[in-house]
Amino acid sequence: MVLTELSPNMNNNYKNKSLPNYKSVFLDWNLVQTDMKNKLGMDIYESWLKKIKFIEELNNYVLLSVPTRFIRDWITSRYLDQILQIIKIYKKNIIRIEFKIVEQTSDKDENKINLETTENKDNVSFIKDTYLQYNRIDQNKRFDNFVIGSSNKLAYEASLKVTENISHYNPLYIYGGVGMGKTHLLNSIGLELKKKYKVMFISAERFMYQFVKSIKSNEMVKFKEYFRNTDILLIDDIQFMNGKEAMQEEFFHTFNALLDKGSQIVVTADRAPNNLTRIQERIRSRFSGGLVIDVQKPENELRKRIVEGKTNEMNKLYLGQINISKEIKEFISNEITNSIRELVGAVNRIVSFSRIYNKAPNLAETKLVLKDLLNLSENKVTIDLIQTVVCKFFKISKNEMLSSRRSRYLVRPRQTAIYLTKILTSKSLPEIGREFSNRDHTTIIHSVRTIEKIKQRDTEMLKNIEKLKNQILYVNKENEI
Ligand code: ADP
Ligand code: MG
Repeated sequence: MVLTELSPNMNNNYKNKSLPNYKSVFLDWNLVQTDMKNKLGMDIYESWLKKIKFIEELNNYVLLSVPTRFIRDWITSRYLDQILQIIKIYKKNIIRIEFKIVEQTSDKDENKINLETTENKDNVSFIKDTYLQYNRIDQNKRFDNFVIGSSNKLAYEASLKVTENISHYNPLYIYGGVGMGKTHLLNSIGLELKKKYKVMFISAERFMYQFVKSIKSNEMVKFKEYFRNTDILLIDDIQFMNGKEAMQEEFFHTFNALLDKGSQIVVTADRAPNNLTRIQERIRSRFSGGLVIDVQKPENELRKRIVEGKTNEMNKLYLGQINISKEIKEFISNEITNSIRELVGAVNRIVSFSRIYNKAPNLAETKLVLKDLLNLSENKVTIDLIQTVVCKFFKISKNEMLSSRRSRYLVRPRQTAIYLTKILTSKSLPEIGREFSNRDHTTIIHSVRTIEKIKQRDTEMLKNIEKLKNQILYVNKENEI
């Protein structure tokens, strides 16, 4: 089952013929890229992560390439942990990432690059950008598909108000944790106002990037003009603005010039203005001077509506093929509480699962597919719990299970418990051996392989394993409450 493929270190040797591999033997870089987009946002993805190419997977690390040192350093200092986390979802044994610098001269988006010769990190003029590139507003993030709840109602209303009557709240500053819908709102504002005004939608990262680039290419005048000409300035993730004095200076002046001429400014951030430590005090106080609103964590009701909405949307997209049960929807909206992005991501994963396997996942599969998003940490599934559940199921005592007796009625349950421990926990083979009365790790491997084989030909066994997995993960949950 899918459990096998998601479990650590078990990928290559155990080919399950009855189902396609959820995770292939090799890391599927496309999946990682999709996750990076979802997790870190389109803007960061487009600016940086898209440029990462997969070279190869080695023993416990992956080798990736990026076109320049600058990009490597930037990615390493900001996103490496998160990229690694994503890779680990698919390949648990990967513990680090290495970058090789490979020029990508054929890449349309870029001019000839050669940063090997320069040590200057600020030299970003190799990126061929047009200003227009910064104005890519996402057509899919609109007011009409923004689901409203008590946690985001104020931010929604203020955003809407801005589109009706600009300069009403100026600047409008929306803040909140990751994945709460800030960018979605900013996009919605942009889409709406674009109909009538000149809109500039940019992330703070890109603003910095563009700023540095303009200095290097002596295009500062153009830069200033461009920004100061806009009617609406929408800046996403202002907390990333940590540029040098000169840049903050420029930003401050642009900001003031725009406010003076009555342009609307909307800013989002992950924190309140006074907590923006890397930003000059005078800019912070400018932010505080407008309307400051926070988006809070989604409450249960909102989560439910988002899951419902998203599954319906997917269902339409796939012509009614996606049938996610009420139980699973409830599980997702009850368990994934941190952010709307994770919630949406969870629904997407479940949908992918359904499409890969041609069936909606059951609860145990859902838990495994969403494992990294759930708070049920795997070490709450203890070996003791697994042994207890398995013993009860096969009606043997724990002493019997742990004994060295080889009667057939004991061997199978024992092997099953060992197998389940392997797939449901991250314990190593010797560790598992110790917990099963100091058995040798080769015995553990043998047990796991045996069950794997039996599962393939014996549907009864497959069902039992499913039941057991469900019980273990379920009991685990009940214990939590
Ligand atoms: P943030 O900018 O706060 O980190 P995003 O705006 O990028 O979060 O939202 C993350 C994802 O969740 C996006 O796909 C977005 O469309 C979706 N999303 C967030 N809030 C809502 C909402 N209230 N209704 C519908 N989708 C939402
Ligand atoms: Mg955002």
